[in-house]
Amino acid sequence: MKAFTYQRAKDPTQAARAVAERPGAKFLAGGTNLLDLMKIEVETPVHLVDVQDLKLDKIEPTDAGGLRIGALVTNTDLATDARIRRDYGVLSRAIVAGASGQLRNKATTAGNLLQRTRCPYFYDTNLPCNKRRPGSGCAAIGGVSRQLAVIGSSEHCIATNPSDMAVAMRVLDAEVETVDARGAPRSIPIAEFHRLPGDTPHIDTNLRFGELITAVTLPKPIGGHQFYEKVRDRASYAFALVSVAAVVEKDGTGRVALGGVAHKPWRVEAADAAMPQGASAVAARLFAGADPTPDNAFKVPLAERTLAAVINQASST
Ligand code: SF4
Repeated sequence: MKAFTYQRAKDPTQAARAVAERPGAKFLAGGTNLLDLMKIEVETPVHLVDVQDLKLDKIEPTDAGGLRIGALVTNTDLATDARIRRDYGVLSRAIVAGASGQLRNKATTAGNLLQRTRCPYFYDTNLPCNKRRPGSGCAAIGGVSRQLAVIGSSEHCIATNPSDMAVAMRVLDAEVETVDARGAPRSIPIAEFHRLPGDTPHIDTNLRFGELITAVTLPKPIGGHQFYEKVRDRASYAFALVSVAAVVEKDGTGRVALGGVAHKPWRVEAADAAMPQGASAVAARLFAGADPTPDNAFKVPLAERTLAAVINQASST
């Protein structure tokens, strides 16, 4: 591991300023992803600003009838909160589908949104990877790509976003709240939070350097039958080949987002509109323009079948 300096921040603006003033600095919260990456020198921050004392660990009602989830609320506390389980079941189920109990006890809401891809080449510092080292190339293109993206990718990167939680937040239209080094707040719709790789795959989100996530806000409950179905190579502790976050109403209308298929949680408004027409119509819209590799083309029919199972389940309950 490369040497780095360390400080514990006292308030969010001070934390944001400490990172913004120091090129190569990073925030540290639960550390369940960052510390692993530092040990293998995929991440080499020169300075860590520990935000664990910032008291951003509450889940509170908003004036709009929703919930404001502090950035440091652990994945376990979020998944087991009675209000989340009752009104935002898709979110609770998505979190429980991810990682182990030990990791969920430590991982935070903001950290979950910021976790890096699990593309195997990203973790091998002997191989080219534009996300790890811009301009070095992409070993996954032409390599083993079973786990990787089928849509929204570029000639520079075909990685997927690994978060389950983010897929549920996308279907719920969450907003990410931040503060910058001057103390100025900003609210970013989750749809605009994660980026497609384009020619800058090393930039995962639209956060500005030094901008700190303080909370995620959920709108008021939307009702409906809520599902999170995750298909993976083994029963637990594995990232999604495909996941489906869906909210389905009695009349068949609803909304859907996919995980495991793109560099960001994948939702298409036209696909939501096609929900009453069934899974094939929805999948056709979700995957319009898809460009899978021979290794991962199976994800397209797999996602359609998973969505069909969800719709069937919704109509029979
Ligand atoms: Fe790196 Fe992206 Fe290529 Fe994976 S797909 S090797 S993360 S550039």
